[in-house]
Amino acid sequence: AKSDGRRTYRFFEAGMDARAKARRSLELELRQAIADGSFELHYQPLLHLEEGQVSCCEALVRWRHPERGTISPADFIPIAEDTGLINDLGHWVLNTACREAMNWPEHVHVAVNVSPIQFKSQTLALNVAAALAATGLAPSRLELEITEAVLIRDDEAALDILHQLRELGVRIALDDFGTGYSSLSYLQRFPFDKIKIDRAFIKDLAGTGASSTIVQAVVNIAAASDMTTTAEGVETEQQRNLLRILGCTEMQGYLFSRPVSSAEIRKLLSSDREK
Ligand code: C2E
Ligand code: CA
Ligand code: CA
Ligand code: CA
Repeated sequence: AKSDGRRTYRFFEAGMDARAKARRSLELELRQAIADGSFELHYQPLLHLEEGQVSCCEALVRWRHPERGTISPADFIPIAEDTGLINDLGHWVLNTACREAMNWPEHVHVAVNVSPIQFKSQTLALNVAAALAATGLAPSRLELEITEAVLIRDDEAALDILHQLRELGVRIALDDFGTGYSSLSYLQRFPFDKIKIDRAFIKDLAGTGASSTIVQAVVNIAAASDMTTTAEGVETEQQRNLLRILGCTEMQGYLFSRPVSSAEIRKLLSSDREK
């Protein structure tokens, strides 16, 4: 029994070692990729449910790896966060997205994801102001998407940065709403402009569970506080219809469009305007 335990332990250790090595090599490649600029932004439209027009496009980063092909952000954002590389990457994403949005119709906003780690750097608001100044984008067209992780420790410094961003005139959206812990209390900590309701609730909308009740409650709370709501991951007509009935403001998901390249989003936006 004892030797078995030791064998298991060694096996575990070897597994850890391989994983740590793979991670270390991905980290080195990530560092190089940031220096080389091997990233690309794709954009996914958010559709106004009543008016049927695109109101915003979310920038989603893609890593074009020479051998491994396109790597999903779910695989490299956590490493970029652990290593602090997210600050450089986030800076690039912000500037690239603001520049791209200058090619779109003026009523279309651009949404940029901001990692909680970026809130640890005191320069976030300065970087946002610099990106707006450099590209000429109107502040009201920029939406920053943050998760409740930013607010989790009642972090005064992070709240202070949120207020600085608000003073610049940019919009702040609470992303992935409902996935974390005791989410409602976070709505009191900062006056968000938008709540993005996580895909988990949209998936079960037509089912027998509590999802539609929860979505309705979120829509009501948002309306009472001058916030809009976006349903994430809308994949079916049935979900779209239910969301309209529930009074959700916008939808985002494969039903209308997957994230597409900058050339394709321009095409999509110019044909959307002619409607
Ligand atoms: P997110 O911010 O929640 O972005 C939405 C994700 O859902 C995107 O995955 C999008 O492609 C996917 N999605 C959209 N519609 C549908 C749908 O109808 N069905 C399904 N199944 N999925 C849908 P993606 O592009 O792989 O991004 C994953 C996550 O990586 C993002 O989740 C975000 O947290 C993070 N991320 C992406 N780009 C950035 C970035 O520039 N900075 C930071 N900090 N994080 C980023
Ligand atoms: Ca997002
Ligand atoms: Ca989300
Ligand atoms: Ca998510």
